[in-house]
Amino acid sequence: MCTTGLPPRPPTTAFSGRVLGPGDPEYDAARTVFNGMVDRFPQLITQPSTADDVAAAIRHGVDAGLEIAVRSGGHSRQGNSTTEGGLVIDLRRMNSISVDPVARTARVGGGATWSQLGRAAQEYGLAANASRHTPSGVAASSLSGGSGWLERQLGLTCDSLISVELVTADGRQVTASETEHPDLFWALHGGGGNFGVATAVTVRLHPIPSVASLTLLWPWSAYGEVVRTFRSVFETDPPPALSGAVVAVTDPPGTVVPAQLHGRLVTKVEAVHTGTTDELLELIDPLRKLCPATSQVRTSPSAANRLSPNGPPGLRSHWRPNYLESLSDQAIDEYAEWIAQVPDRTVARVPLLPWSGAVTAGADRWPGPFRRAPWMLGVLARWDSPTRDDRAVGWIRAMHDLPSHRALDTRFDPADGARLGRVKSAYDPGNVFRLNQNIQPA
Ligand SMILES: Cc1cc2nc3c(=O)[nH]c(=O)nc-3n(C[C@H](O)[C@H](O)[C@H](O)COP(=O)(O)OP(=O)(O)OC[C@H]3O[C@@H](n4cnc5c(N)ncnc54)[C@H](O)[C@@H]3O)c2cc1C
Repeated sequence: MCTTGLPPRPPTTAFSGRVLGPGDPEYDAARTVFNGMVDRFPQLITQPSTADDVAAAIRHGVDAGLEIAVRSGGHSRQGNSTTEGGLVIDLRRMNSISVDPVARTARVGGGATWSQLGRAAQEYGLAANASRHTPSGVAASSLSGGSGWLERQLGLTCDSLISVELVTADGRQVTASETEHPDLFWALHGGGGNFGVATAVTVRLHPIPSVASLTLLWPWSAYGEVVRTFRSVFETDPPPALSGAVVAVTDPPGTVVPAQLHGRLVTKVEAVHTGTTDELLELIDPLRKLCPATSQVRTSPSAANRLSPNGPPGLRSHWRPNYLESLSDQAIDEYAEWIAQVPDRTVARVPLLPWSGAVTAGADRWPGPFRRAPWMLGVLARWDSPTRDDRAVGWIRAMHDLPSHRALDTRFDPADGARLGRVKSAYDPGNVFRLNQNIQPA
């Protein structure tokens, strides 16, 4: 039985943030999102400064019958952080961060990003359990799960949540934690923005002042052998302090790439270890024995590690994680053949990540079963022209037809799905927050 126990409705307060509409000089910049395929014109963009502002914006949207979109970093592939003709609650002004170095926690505004939190934590020799994609919002990505370099040791980014301050569909302000609204807190570990607007989250920070990382690059022809070796490294159950990815990359960036590989599909390994570089080199030795064309070791703040550069806004894009149930030799060969068909002038990253350690350990505690998948294969593609949409999207979709591709169809199993539906009914029975991976009220 799920009860809200909500406090009485707070009085309406004046709106202290900003409101933008078509015609305002800042409107166009404010409505733009990461994916250039999403070009929507909201009736109103509200930029709240406080939780009361957020409550006022929600009430206005509901009363006026406007579709409500909630926005932080604006990286949602489907364009869930904007709306055509509706009302956007743009949280980017609510980005204050306060670190408690003794308790090793941070209270993070609902619109603050992982880069901002990473910098604030580093000042105290601490690290956030950050998403790999550091321009994303801390709240946005944590509530939907969140996958980062430290996950084999610390779990998904949501596993570092201590509490979430939320404004619900009827404008009330609640705090969810292990002890307050525990069902809501459970649902916020993967249920995303379905239950309200997170105006702040309090997260655990970790005493990891820096991480050792290693980048290895090979010509594309090495992909099959590199993936098999990478698979065997992670199947021997290495320490959770080690994580990594094999990434097929079409535009090898920066200084580590030899000239002969510029602009071509290459095989790359990123390995990250919260111990020393010597330990990292030993753990990853089987891959180093495959004679990479380049090898670069470094020690850096954990927040600085990225899988994919953000790139210029406005490019069209598609991003999709696939939670693999298995990774057979046959599947590896089929993935290699499929990746090699990436269309011209499409920038692609196809990372293969081991999901094990603390990610799997959290599966019984939080909504699953995607956490039990042993591997995650992500696909990110970016291109510049609508004339290339069909080919790029068609290429991504073709992966699902590969005979040996085995991925979970749904993110939640029926029992978790039913429980999430009950929580949704308790906090958002009218499905006001539906621009997300939507959970229907039970
Ligand atoms: C290039 C690229 C690489 C990526 N790599 C990774 C990765 O390595 N790991 C990973 O986990 N994800 C990754 N992602 C996915 C991305 O991190 C998530 O989509 C994340 O939610 C985006 O955060 P954002 O702040 O940009 O969200 P937005 O696009 O602003 O919003 C996303 C969703 O969250 C809701 N939302 C936003 N803010 C709040 C809030 N404060 N309260 C309630 N709901 C809110 C929105 O309504 C929307 O439904 C990647 C995406 C891209 C484009």
